[in-house]
Amino acid sequence: MPYLLSAIFVLGWVALSFGWRLRFRRLEETLAQERRVLAESHKQQEEDAAQKQAEQQALFNSMTEGVLVLDQAGRVLLVNQSLRDCFRLQSDVRHQTIMEALRLQELNELIRRLPAERIVQGLELQLPGVNGRWLEVNAAAVLDRGGNQRGAILVFHDLTRLKHLENTRQEFVANVSHELRTPLSLIKGFAETLLDGAKNDPEVLDRFLRTIEKHTDRLTYLIEDLLTISQLEGDQIAMCLQKVDLHEEATRVIEDLQARAQEKSVTLRNEIPAELPAEADAERLQQVLFNLIENAIKYGRTAGTVSIGGGPVANDMIEVWVRDDGPGIPPEAQQRIFERFFRVDRARSRETGGTGLGLSIVKHIVQAHGGEVCVKSEVGKGTTFSFTLKGA
Ligand code: ADP
Repeated sequence: MPYLLSAIFVLGWVALSFGWRLRFRRLEETLAQERRVLAESHKQQEEDAAQKQAEQQALFNSMTEGVLVLDQAGRVLLVNQSLRDCFRLQSDVRHQTIMEALRLQELNELIRRLPAERIVQGLELQLPGVNGRWLEVNAAAVLDRGGNQRGAILVFHDLTRLKHLENTRQEFVANVSHELRTPLSLIKGFAETLLDGAKNDPEVLDRFLRTIEKHTDRLTYLIEDLLTISQLEGDQIAMCLQKVDLHEEATRVIEDLQARAQEKSVTLRNEIPAELPAEADAERLQQVLFNLIENAIKYGRTAGTVSIGGGPVANDMIEVWVRDDGPGIPPEAQQRIFERFFRVDRARSRETGGTGLGLSIVKHIVQAHGGEVCVKSEVGKGTTFSFTLKGA
């Protein structure tokens, strides 16, 4: 009996300890499983954080505005790519003061104002040196929950293009006013002289009226050219592209200008081969040829020759040129010749009724056709204007 009891006890103890071991093992497995889950979720969290940081960095760097973040001590914490490009920063500027990093006293001043003002907007400044860019800076203090300043963020907008457009607009208005005022004051002057008694002399009356007529014509041309330029620049003129024969188009323009050429004993030669087709708006193409041939007559030499030629060039394009044997254009003026109102000899251009817009119109029309215009000239030998068009 005692043996039986001991056997039962031993068996019971074995069963109990086996059961405990089983439970321990299960517990261990459960713990290991949870450790694995925890490790995986930790890894996932790290990956998510890295992904978020990469996204924020990409966003920060893709911003067109330059951004600079300063820490509490006023040292650079972060700069984005736009700011690096704008200031042409080569080295790492982190931990530097704004003066050390960007070397602009105006920015230093702006940072000094921030603790009191919290937000400073619309500070315009121009970068020194060849860079010469115009920037608008907006700055804000970074505050903690207690309202204490913990740093600053500066955002830089590039105003260079806007400034450039504004300057061009102002220059244009000044030029137009000047161009309008000159013939108007001449007309007024002649009219006043006639009214003061000169009208009683038939010879003077006739001469003055002709001068008044000449200047009114000039005003009309100027207004027409201004309207054309503004329509071309505003893309308001749709090009009606069709197959045109360049030889025929040149013949038409030459006929229109024959009388002008004869006044100066200039010979006009159409050397464009017969049946040279191009894709163009016939009316606009005639305007281009008219302006170039008229200039060649006006600014070429008396009894000179103006030849109009053309032929195929690379990429299925056709090149057309207008060549004169006049005094030529100096190299420095060649670079500016297509600018609005640019003239090599202002007095001469006015004398011949020029508006200073003819070549600018030529350039716009050729570009609207997908072509390019260029000038080659040698002083004392002559000038060649050429442009390209798509072949048809
Ligand atoms: P404009 O109305 O004054 O003729 P354009 O824009 O047609 O204006 O020409 C600009 C300037 O370019 C002219 O004032 C003239 O000084 C110069 N120019 C144009 N064509 C020639 C040429 N074939 N030879 C010499 N100078 C030229």
